[in-house]
Amino acid sequence: MKVVKTIPELKEFVQTEKKAGRQIGLVPTMGFLHEGHLSLAEKARKENDIVIMTIFVNPLQFGPGEDFERYPRDLERDEKLAASAGVDCLFVPEVEEMYPQPSIITMTVTGRADKLCGEKRPGHFDGVATVVTKLFHLTEPDKAYFGLKDAQQFAVIAGLVESLNFPVEVIGVETIREEDGLAKSSRNVYLTEDERSKAPHLQKALQLGVQTAERGKKSPAEIKQLTNDYLQSHAGAAVDYVELLSYPELEPLEKAHGKMILAAAIKYSKARLIDNIIFNLN
Ligand code: AMP
Repeated sequence: MKVVKTIPELKEFVQTEKKAGRQIGLVPTMGFLHEGHLSLAEKARKENDIVIMTIFVNPLQFGPGEDFERYPRDLERDEKLAASAGVDCLFVPEVEEMYPQPSIITMTVTGRADKLCGEKRPGHFDGVATVVTKLFHLTEPDKAYFGLKDAQQFAVIAGLVESLNFPVEVIGVETIREEDGLAKSSRNVYLTEDERSKAPHLQKALQLGVQTAERGKKSPAEIKQLTNDYLQSHAGAAVDYVELLSYPELEPLEKAHGKMILAAAIKYSKARLIDNIIFNLN
């Protein structure tokens, strides 16, 4: 596996592979890799000739008071894991490499970004759209892989690609979980023992909400209330939001119908966790 830190080195790698007619799969991450990230890399490995993974903690998508400075990092371990998942090229730029001077262009995501995490983290998806655009241009992927744990991020990136005609196919990958149902996340290391034992209730609350919707008797407001009540009494965390919306449009629903997402975010002492279930009702 080639590890590159600069844009010229990355471009040289990409140009060589493109000239040889090889198909490139891209897996963007912020590092501190776990099995969720590796499942994206393994899928990319199966579906492409070349896999490029990027590790970049993007300051643009962190708000003031968020965890940019203390986001967990372990490049040595990440290199081993990425190599074991079959990554061909690992791009690990410094912030100055990606943003050498203030940009004269600012991206604003106007759709799918004002709900859920976008509402709680203003500017977050503008930062995501900016870095993903740069990574698409730098790596020229045929396919790019994103986790559905970050379902709003996937909806925004799919919208970005469609709106701006990026020549890339974006692929959403199912969430990888711990045995007790907690979604794998780099931020899980922030949880205290007690918080870790309660965190699986996030997924359980969402399952309860979806089962309620499937029974068909409750309104979206009642489904959200039930999910919220369960979280309040079991998760031992502050509930940031519980939402039931259409997916991927993320519009409010009059009744639970069609393709939907039930999503929640909760806050523990040092970690904010998100999870969701995407489901269909006819
Ligand atoms: P991150 O490093 O948190 O920015 O995540 C990088 C990519 O991995 C994103 O597309 C995430 O949605 C995806 N990802 C994170 N956690 C998981 C998980 N548990 N299962 C599947 N994909 C994940």
